[in-house]
Amino acid sequence: MRPEALNSLFVEVEALEGVGPKLRKPLEKLGLTRIRDLAYHLPDRFVERRAITNLDEAGIGENVIVALTVREHRSPSGRGPFRIIAEDVAGNICTVTYFGRASYTGKKQLPVGETRWVAGRIDQYGQMLQIVHPEHVSEDSAAPVGQLCEAVYPLSEGLTQGRAAALVAQAIKGLPDLPEWIEPGLIAKTGWPIWREALVEAHRGVNGPARDRLAYDELFANALALMLVRESNRSQRGTPLAGDGSLRAKLKLPFALTGAQARSIGEIEGDLAQPSPMLRLLQGDVGSGKTVVALTSMLIAVEAGAQAALLAPTEILARQHYETLSRMLQGTGVEIALLTGRDKGKAREAILMGLLGGTIQIVVGTHAIFQDSVAYKNLALVVIDEQHRFGVGQRLMLARKGRRTPHTLAMTATPIPRTLTLAQYGEMEVSKLDELPPGRQAIDTRVVAVERMDDVVGALSRHIESGQQAYWVCPMVNESETDDLAAAEARYAALKERFGDTVALVHGQLRPEVKDAAMERFARGEAKLLVATTVIEVGVDVPNSTLMVIEQAERFGLAQLHQLRGRVGRGSGKSTCLLLRGNQLSETGRQRLALMRETQDGFRLAEEDLQLRGGGELLGTRQSGDTPFRIASLEQITKLLPLAHDDARLLIERDGGLSGPRGDAARLLLYLFERDWGVQLLRSG
Ligand code: ADP
Ligand code: MG
Repeated sequence: MRPEALNSLFVEVEALEGVGPKLRKPLEKLGLTRIRDLAYHLPDRFVERRAITNLDEAGIGENVIVALTVREHRSPSGRGPFRIIAEDVAGNICTVTYFGRASYTGKKQLPVGETRWVAGRIDQYGQMLQIVHPEHVSEDSAAPVGQLCEAVYPLSEGLTQGRAAALVAQAIKGLPDLPEWIEPGLIAKTGWPIWREALVEAHRGVNGPARDRLAYDELFANALALMLVRESNRSQRGTPLAGDGSLRAKLKLPFALTGAQARSIGEIEGDLAQPSPMLRLLQGDVGSGKTVVALTSMLIAVEAGAQAALLAPTEILARQHYETLSRMLQGTGVEIALLTGRDKGKAREAILMGLLGGTIQIVVGTHAIFQDSVAYKNLALVVIDEQHRFGVGQRLMLARKGRRTPHTLAMTATPIPRTLTLAQYGEMEVSKLDELPPGRQAIDTRVVAVERMDDVVGALSRHIESGQQAYWVCPMVNESETDDLAAAEARYAALKERFGDTVALVHGQLRPEVKDAAMERFARGEAKLLVATTVIEVGVDVPNSTLMVIEQAERFGLAQLHQLRGRVGRGSGKSTCLLLRGNQLSETGRQRLALMRETQDGFRLAEEDLQLRGGGELLGTRQSGDTPFRIASLEQITKLLPLAHDDARLLIERDGGLSGPRGDAARLLLYLFERDWGVQLLRSG
């Protein structure tokens, strides 16, 4: 149960004045559904304005507040704008200009003969100064202050700056006082304000300490929750799994394991034999061979008489995993099943019976495999592919499926930097596949200006004629971004005109059946060219596809480009990756593309990515889920996460955890950042 002290923060935004059904959607789009969310809706930046009396003091492009007296209204002749001629105290003329419907507002706010404070940006218009659509107009008064520094909030369609500011102000006004959860020594050292003040200050102006404190709170909540998970895990009983090797011996692999694979399997085998449940992360670049490590681990469980489950983030991937594993398991006698949300009726019933009765030993699926209606006879190992797509909380739900806590192996193909590993996984044990299987060829990576589109299509055409397949990736910030979706559809249409029915399309807004059908056509080789958004980023494996074109490559982060490129170079043939770049390339954009050409080492690219990030020019920097944080920036993560981590450890190991003197405050924090799975786990464990 959420502590009462937080109740007022978790009230729905509808309770605020001026929030009706019309604002709901724009707010929801920004994730702002409760007072708490609004309070934490921090400004992107601030506009600084200078109050001036004489326009001669203003520079062109400067944001100012100035008192202007209105001389004349000039209605447009034809389709021109509405202009208001005004002057300052010194008689300098300034035009205040309005386009379209805004003219009515202007007319009302700036009546002829009156003096008003006008806030806006000074531009030059011919020989005259002008302010277009002033941001504020207010009655003449002695003090224009209060608007000198104004927050600029992230917006969505239907939410204006003024509205956002007003709502945030309401949310901030009623903030409760909360006890301090940060270690007193750290507060003393940093001089950070208390929580409530930090929130107020962060909306008021650029304030490093306030922003840092808020970021720290978030990082601390996360570190603490993860550490509670680990603690609880240690105290829990699992099933020690010792296989006799009989099934593993029946696996007929067409290759020898790499050293890294053998080492990782050894580490996992060691964990599985323990009575406390495993919590291990398998980190390995695309193509490093995680599948066989997962399969071997699951076979150990089956040898020991238990069941294993493999959880994939999407249906496409679940299906692909299922097919790969089924093929590898031929001749072993192991029963494997696929369960996704699409299975209905009799087929689904049969799988559920098999899981309950234990005749199905390995199940592969999407989150459907841990719905309430799915019961297992003896689930002892859960393998999660692409763990970062799921919250840790979800993983725990899954973990409760067995009577005893199952062992967990999380696999990620994203070689994230070390700091982020800690942020996302806490102190999980890590196995690294830092060695690619032998015989892989380097992917020939080139940067091509978008003007050379015709050449690219020509090369694509020769490629397809030679019997090979290709990917064409279009950027999409998130699946609801209509512009990007339209661009992808348009590209698909254009390529289809050229290449006919051999072109397939997948993107996140297609129905799963349609998406799967397209993928299957491509996997079977019927489709030669797959036009896709980043949904192909993880997992898809078509070795005959040896060319990848990435449009607007500069909009992607390095890590994401690397993930995408990993889709080619999977067979023995030579592979090529063409990075199409637009003609407005920023310096970091240029550096990123250069790095892509230079190296294929995922761990290195991940570190460089972190260095180059920032500025928000990238696809999905905020919403990509590559950090689990909403407040803390990448810089703050790097700077503050180690502190938060140490503090969490101190709290648990020295200060009595949630039952010690700081415990109540820490519990508030966990609920505040919705890391309460940490608390709940502690109770049930
Ligand atoms: P990941 O899931 O880590 O991206 P996969 O498990 O899909 O990688 O493996 C990529 C490809 O490499 C597959 O075709 C797989 O059969 C092959 N492979 C895996 N391990 C080895 C190995 N030790 N030697 C040669 N090929 C391997
Ligand atoms: Mg894989």
